[in-house]
Amino acid sequence: MRYISTRGKIDPIGFKEAVMMGLALDGGLLLPDPIPSVDSFTLRRWKDLSYPGLALEVMRLFINDISDSVFKTLIQDAYSSFDTPEVTPIVRSGDYYILELFHGPTLAFKDIALQLLGELFSYLLKEKHSKMNILGATSGDTGSAAIYGVKGKENINIFILYPEGRVSEVQALQMTTVPEENVFNIAVQGTFDDCQAIVKAIFNQLEFKRQYHLGSVNSINWARVLAQIVYYVYAVLRLKGDAGDGPINFSVPTGNFGDIFAGYIAGKLIQGNIGRLILATNENDILTQFVLQGRYARSQVIPTISPSMDIQVASNFERYLYYLYNQDPERVREAMSSFAEEGEIQFSQEEQAQARRDFASVSIDQAITISTIREIYRETGYVLDPHSAVGVAAAEMLRHDLPEGPIVCLATAHPAKFPEAVSRAIGREPERPERLRGIEDRPSRYKVLPADIDAIKGYIVRHAI
Ligand SMILES: *Cc1c(COP(=O)(O)O)cnc(C)c1O
Repeated sequence: MRYISTRGKIDPIGFKEAVMMGLALDGGLLLPDPIPSVDSFTLRRWKDLSYPGLALEVMRLFINDISDSVFKTLIQDAYSSFDTPEVTPIVRSGDYYILELFHGPTLAFKDIALQLLGELFSYLLKEKHSKMNILGATSGDTGSAAIYGVKGKENINIFILYPEGRVSEVQALQMTTVPEENVFNIAVQGTFDDCQAIVKAIFNQLEFKRQYHLGSVNSINWARVLAQIVYYVYAVLRLKGDAGDGPINFSVPTGNFGDIFAGYIAGKLIQGNIGRLILATNENDILTQFVLQGRYARSQVIPTISPSMDIQVASNFERYLYYLYNQDPERVREAMSSFAEEGEIQFSQEEQAQARRDFASVSIDQAITISTIREIYRETGYVLDPHSAVGVAAAEMLRHDLPEGPIVCLATAHPAKFPEAVSRAIGREPERPERLRGIEDRPSRYKVLPADIDAIKGYIVRHAI
């Protein structure tokens, strides 16, 4: 297996280098070439594997330079912190199957990828006798998932910037109550955009970046997509037989396009077993506009009750473009530069038709999100979080346009992370899982700093590993 860039200007590299590189050096995104596929015999052989067992079988097809025995240990370590051995259990709720992706340490689906990425970084740094200072900005979920992925790991320190007073209380506590000494939370006196701009500016200072071994855990790292492919295959295997033998449809609450892109690759890996992917968006609907109108155009971010999907420019979209353009890196380069200049990409009739074969899509507003949480609760007793509710509402609207077969809705966060929205819908706060109980009483650690690059850099210099 080799990895290439969507922009075609780097020599192919191996898996380990792809993980350490993150963004390709030519500014593109890394992709496996070719995408592997498995036959129905193999799929049958996988049927009874545990989640970690299946994770090894699926991911080893994309990895050429880490031994199975090492990788098996990394997987086991990554998922031992989940509260169920199934890792991503499926529950039936009315007409739908809910694939629960929130059983990790921070109760959101990003744990599935970031727990593994933490193990991978730790292993690769040890192997190279190297170290890394991870720097990131968060508006909520990613920060805590990244922290839990690397807390207590040797050779890694992590610095997370978040806007002081502008993330939810639970989200802030999930970051600041982690006691491990390699974790540095920075409450920035500014907005999330300030945090992001500072991080970007620091990464652009190449000499500083090199000197302090700065690394990133953002959603374009190939290992994050790879880890997410597994649960699509897992759901197909769990439902095959019970729910008929036809293809299975998935509804995916989408922001940066990482989760649904993993579903797209899973569809190629286990051909014929995944039907349609529903690309569900909130009011930030640039991707829905792409599927329905054939136009991908930047606009202002609208804050919603599903904040982890409040994204306009989807960082993984370029990966899909590469396939939509028949693997022609020159066309990807043209499209991305036209997007950078004009804020927009237009697609031909043929490309639009292909996009609509790959995805169904709808944008769900906050009123429908709330009423979906309420209705599903009334009908089945199941409590959805507002992100997962966007996916269920989209499935409800589009079910008649899908190929026949079960619909799996991805539940991307535990409802207890969003008590306000949930209580607006069902009149009470969701029950807190064990992990959150008493979180307000734990010691909390963070440093308040002004939204100033030099102040942040100074802090990193003092605390870097
Ligand atoms: C990140 C996130 C999403 C969106 O996933 P993408 O891979 O960015 O499309 C949806 N729901 C929750 C709860 C998230 O944290």
